[in-house]
Amino acid sequence: MDDCIFCKIVAGDIPAKKYYEDELMIVIADISPKAEKHYLAIPKKHYKLFSEMTEADAADLGKCIRKIGEIAPSLGLENGFRFIVNQGDDAEQTVFHLHMHLLGGQKLSTHSYKRDA
Ligand code: 5GP
Ligand code: ZN
Repeated sequence: MDDCIFCKIVAGDIPAKKYYEDELMIVIADISPKAEKHYLAIPKKHYKLFSEMTEADAADLGKCIRKIGEIAPSLGLENGFRFIVNQGDDAEQTVFHLHMHLLGGQKLSTHSYKRDA
């Protein structure tokens, strides 16, 4: 997608430090962290919503999630992390390329996943 910031980061057109990369996803730090450690795991394929996914996308996303579990300790998330995917208006999704927030590096309050917390 031409005007998608995450597609541009995936393509390397916008520089970002990649903490992890494979054929399916990249992991970068969120530009506006909401916790001591706040990463974005971004599937390389562009789609916005779970409801847009194909069966192949679902299989790929499953692989990404399994990989996140594997690499979490190397990201400083060895004590756990919160996993968030914002979908649509009510969740205030702001980047319309599906991505997974990984929050950790500290004890997280019950409400720290909320934007205004
Ligand atoms: P959403 O609100 O769509 O779930 O999350 C989008 C996230 O992307 C936000 O937490 C925001 O801080 C982050 N973000 C937006 N633009 C950039 C960028 O150019 N680089 C990085 N690293 N993060 C970004
Ligand atoms: Zn995109």
